[in-house]
Amino acid sequence: MKVVNIEGIGDVIFVKNNRSKKYYLRVNKLGEVRVTIPMFGTYKFAVDYVQSKKDWIIDGKSKISAAKGKKVYSIGRIDYNEKFSISISTHDKMTVKSQEEISRQREIINILVPSTVDIQNAELQSIVSEHISKIMLNAAKNVLPSMIEEISQATGLSYSGLRISSAQRRWGSCSSTNSISLSKNLIKLPTPLINFVIIHELCHTKHKNHGKYFHALVDSYCGGKEKQLAKELRQIEKVLL
Ligand SMILES: [Zn+2]
Repeated sequence: MKVVNIEGIGDVIFVKNNRSKKYYLRVNKLGEVRVTIPMFGTYKFAVDYVQSKKDWIIDGKSKISAAKGKKVYSIGRIDYNEKFSISISTHDKMTVKSQEEISRQREIINILVPSTVDIQNAELQSIVSEHISKIMLNAAKNVLPSMIEEISQATGLSYSGLRISSAQRRWGSCSSTNSISLSKNLIKLPTPLINFVIIHELCHTKHKNHGKYFHALVDSYCGGKEKQLAKELRQIEKVLL
């Protein structure tokens, strides 16, 4: 077995199999690219073969990343909700640049990528993803405080403090002293779901458990849609986290 990093594709695993009669190329469930080399085959031929199938491999890898819930970024702008957008465009430098922009109360993360590199390139995808996750904390700090404040005012549920966290597997929490923590990833949700998570945490200031009085309170502030919103949140978690 031999692992070779091929530009624009990433690591490719080559396995020699003397029982194999021809070259096999596949992208497995983990997104790994594996090539079987037959008894009389050569690495050189296998590498050329992989390069000739580059588009097919990239397509396969991005489908798998998407299925695994990993973000696959492409050129263009996505408005995640009324307050948060990510815009990816190209420039003629070989670097990735990112900056925050606030316009009309909308937080926009602008990413510039080299125009000469395919945006589907695995390495570029991971650099873009790193940039975004770094700026997201700041973006969330610009977006979330006013949202929780508004809901707190409207419901009369007050909290003692707010922390924006980088938690990956948890949208929010409420401490015994009613200090609320919200994950920066919330800003990628549709607004009704952000509100739902905030309502959920604010209701914990009254009930520290998930008992029936807690759910009744949440439901009353969600217009009777708690179950539906919880279901939508579970579905979106699979794609987003
Ligand atoms: Zn809870």
